[in-house]
Amino acid sequence: MRLLLIGIDMGGTNTRMGVITPYGKILNRIQYRTDVSKGVLKMLEELASRLQDLIQQIPEKDHSEIRVGIGVPGPVDLNRGILIEPPNLSELHQFPLRDFLERRIPFPLVLENDANAFTLGEGWVGAARGARHYCGVTLGTGVGGGVVVNGEMLRGVDGFGGEVGHMVLNPEGPICGCGGRGCLEVFASGTGVRRMVLEAIEREGHKGLLKEETKDSEKLTSEEVFRAAERGDELAQRVFQEMGRYLGLGLVNLTNLFNPEKIVIGGKVSGAWNYFISQAREVLYQRAMRGQRERVEVVRAECGDDAGILGAAYAAMKQN
Ligand SMILES: [Zn+2]
Repeated sequence: MRLLLIGIDMGGTNTRMGVITPYGKILNRIQYRTDVSKGVLKMLEELASRLQDLIQQIPEKDHSEIRVGIGVPGPVDLNRGILIEPPNLSELHQFPLRDFLERRIPFPLVLENDANAFTLGEGWVGAARGARHYCGVTLGTGVGGGVVVNGEMLRGVDGFGGEVGHMVLNPEGPICGCGGRGCLEVFASGTGVRRMVLEAIEREGHKGLLKEETKDSEKLTSEEVFRAAERGDELAQRVFQEMGRYLGLGLVNLTNLFNPEKIVIGGKVSGAWNYFISQAREVLYQRAMRGQRERVEVVRAECGDDAGILGAAYAAMKQN
């Protein structure tokens, strides 16, 4: 029997699926817009039917062992196969997602947190391949991540461990979505970049190229800040440098705690790499302990949008 894997990345905007070999080669992939407008049940029915179609298209499906992994945006109770308070899909709280899908497809299925899936995908075939001790950090609307110790994902007692984005950097800092204050996420996410730009404009007034974009401050996005930085806007560049210094503190904590070989950074905000990475590396090198800082390499993710499906497939392969 040939083993084939299906990795699914269920995102708030897009859902991706791929048929993947045990060596991490993607044979076939599909992508569609996640439509929650008719409720989450309809959304999950669509996911199940698209998954069935994808399985139908596998020519050798009758002679293969197929396993399915699905990365979901939120904390996962791995034993019960349910999501716990997913921030962007709150109706799925306590939903028995694994049972729901296993009733519709005749193959074993594992759930994985999406940031863990990113980390596993990069460790399997991406920027951290070959490393047994590494961390993943995704800079998106929030900040996610995962910690791999001796080849194993660090999960903690209930599977919620490795919440890289919620390490506290400033106890008096801005309120975070998790209920805490001053977490890495409030400084190094797209939402954080946006907040820092609006605060700077409040302090200094409108000047420079960001003027147009901030006319409607509700709509300002971190992509617009990035584009302004690209066009030479001084304030936008300064905000990314500030974000880089906070990210650097996050890297110090990861480095001192876990002594990783590599820290892989991805997510859409990492597109602004050149505007924040030198500050992040400088803080890391100034503040982390000598042995650890001389060992760790901070690298940019390589799998792009495929990291999630690759990591979910890898989690399915590793499940006993
Ligand atoms: Zn937090």
